[in-house]
Amino acid sequence: MKVRAQIAMVLNLDKCIGCHTCSVTCKNVWTNREGVEYAWFNNVETKPGIGYPKDWENQDRWNGGWRRRRDGKIEPRIGSKWRILANIFANPDLPEIDDYYEPFDFDYAHLQKAPEMQAFPTARPRSKISGERMEKIEWGPNWEEILGGEFAKRRQDKNFEGVEEEIYGQFENTFMMYLPRLCEHCLNPACVASCPSGAIYKREEDGVVLIDQDKCRGWRMCVSGCPYKKIYYNWSSGKSEKCTLCYPRLEAGMPTVCSETCVGRIRYLGVVLYDADRIEEAASAYDERDLYEAQLKVFLDPSDPRVVAEARREGIPEAWLEAARRSPVYKMAMEWKIAFPLHPEYRTLPMVWYVPPLSPIQSAASAGKIGLDGEMPDVKSLRIPVRYLANLLTGGNEAPVITGLDRMLAMRAYMRAKTFDGVVDEALT
Ligand code: SF4
Ligand code: SF4
Repeated sequence: MKVRAQIAMVLNLDKCIGCHTCSVTCKNVWTNREGVEYAWFNNVETKPGIGYPKDWENQDRWNGGWRRRRDGKIEPRIGSKWRILANIFANPDLPEIDDYYEPFDFDYAHLQKAPEMQAFPTARPRSKISGERMEKIEWGPNWEEILGGEFAKRRQDKNFEGVEEEIYGQFENTFMMYLPRLCEHCLNPACVASCPSGAIYKREEDGVVLIDQDKCRGWRMCVSGCPYKKIYYNWSSGKSEKCTLCYPRLEAGMPTVCSETCVGRIRYLGVVLYDADRIEEAASAYDERDLYEAQLKVFLDPSDPRVVAEARREGIPEAWLEAARRSPVYKMAMEWKIAFPLHPEYRTLPMVWYVPPLSPIQSAASAGKIGLDGEMPDVKSLRIPVRYLANLLTGGNEAPVITGLDRMLAMRAYMRAKTFDGVVDEALT
């Protein structure tokens, strides 16, 4: 057993309101400079959607991610010697500047000029529609929101005109959620493996992944190698940059900027202990559906005396061991199992985990159709399909997501039952 400590984060998507405050405050602190105008160390995507940079989840398009060799072993795609040679000369799979579009911005002038209508928001989206098809739509990181509004409007128009079902989908079946994203500070970081200059490293003491700016030679292998596309090239300095997990603030005992400024209070920072000897095995689970469970096995119980003794032997400070025992991340990920890793099938063992959003149809929840009595939820009643959440968070394994949602619903029912007019009934706590 090789005990290491890691600062990890859990984001409760049930509470994210998509306000982008985290992105803006992060940008003001870290990337408000020449060369990284397009870079957002933290961004908030509208899902389902193609995200930022465009299409980042399409691992066939990029050079990043992992692949299975003919002998069944898993290796980073970047690990192929021919691929490395090809990349040294070309690195053909880099995102282009257009893939980053422009940052999301509120267009107040557009809102102010919008005609008065019955319902908010009154501003019409500006996507282009040609005939029956949506063409040449201006793409953007939160484009799908605009699209949703346009779909709804088109459907309304059609219904008003008495025209039958049309090609734009069924509005009542659509769903939307927000996904804030930052560097995952992975336990098995593909960016570190892909850097020919050895400029990227994972700090021993807290697991933060950083780029040594003096060593970086601007190869940009990390940009194509990171499956989450969370490394940005600074055209002015000629070096790559990434989220630093606000390490100067962490060292001063402060939370990251995104955590501190989050309007929805959705972000939880905490220390987890893990066994560095188990990383390779966890990243190599044969079936993608097993990867979430495999990743859980890397974590160590901070209350286990054997783990504590080994951690002390490794020189992990007492304060960190205490922080690990109180860690909300450990509780949500390991004890309650309501938080899950983002795309564990990328096999980098990400350390930013997510509590999935419930988004049930409220009437179905109130009618007790969604597992409030401890039964498995009627997953069809959830507005966001469990299959979609499982593909996002557990490599397609639906069972842990259903259990997590069930627990969230139970907690919601409990909290509502013990409050009256917003006041907690202490007798029930
Ligand atoms: Fe590296 Fe990407 Fe993982 Fe961040 S998310 S540690 S940049 S591989
Ligand atoms: Fe979501 Fe918090 Fe960011 Fe707002 S500040 S978008 S609530 S993560």
